[in-house]
Amino acid sequence: MNYIILDMEWDSAYCPRISRFINQIIQIGAVKLNESFEIVDTFEKTVRSSFSKKVSGRFTALTGITTKDMLSGIPLENAVTLYNEWAGTDTVTMTWSNSDLFSIIENEKNLMRGVKFHIEKYLDLQSYIQNEMRVLGFEITSQIALGKAAEMLGITTDNLELHTAKDDSLVCAALLKNHYCESRFNELIKDTQNPEFYKRLLFKPTYLSDIRSREIDRRKLRFKCDVCGSDTKRLGKWNYRNHWFSANFSCKSCDRKFSGRVSFKKLYDNVVVKKRICEIKVAQKSNEVNDEVQSVPEKV
Ligand SMILES: [Zn+2]
Repeated sequence: MNYIILDMEWDSAYCPRISRFINQIIQIGAVKLNESFEIVDTFEKTVRSSFSKKVSGRFTALTGITTKDMLSGIPLENAVTLYNEWAGTDTVTMTWSNSDLFSIIENEKNLMRGVKFHIEKYLDLQSYIQNEMRVLGFEITSQIALGKAAEMLGITTDNLELHTAKDDSLVCAALLKNHYCESRFNELIKDTQNPEFYKRLLFKPTYLSDIRSREIDRRKLRFKCDVCGSDTKRLGKWNYRNHWFSANFSCKSCDRKFSGRVSFKKLYDNVVVKKRICEIKVAQKSNEVNDEVQSVPEKV
């Protein structure tokens, strides 16, 4: 079993053939690690765009890859074919965040004439490292850039150029070697041959907006009084605004009145429910309700 850390640099460009912008892959870089996470080989190919004559200034500033570099690259299908030969079989492929997979899918569909990246098993290294950082006591609330994670974990990147595909992969390798936990790592390895994998990846979460939806658990539409804990009665119709349903409620024992709010976010295999109890605002102008003020999250 080998481990491959794959990193791509892509540039957004307008593709006339599909009449829209696409994040075209301009560089593929990767490192191959053995089972002790030692680097056994590296890969780097720059791709010549099949439709644009230059790369964006922003892209060059970020990656150091110039238009001249891009124009002297090889076609994307050739680069991917060489990559697949280099990668071999029996591998776990990792990328720093699964956003690379979206880019891969988009490039495969629109630019690669039937050639596909050979990825068998997959692990989102960003998600793995962020989890390890949480275990170490770091407070992680949003996705962390690779350079930032390296800095926080004390990995030196002085002699590397971040945002070139190969060097990014080397930083990933160093992070992994220093923060490897077999059980938590294995738990995150996904089999891309399972059709569920891409279905789940491409699933877009949505908020339910129809109160009669079968996916809404009716029990979640009830509220307990936040003062005395008794059952409450809904006083009027449900309103829907900014992903939240709201209605006014009255406590059956203490007569407390409040606005009960609930949202339903549909994920791939469950619905996440959030509930809040807010004070009823007396509208200054008609129909205007001041959201979120004085709201206290209610446990569900
Ligand atoms: Zn009450």
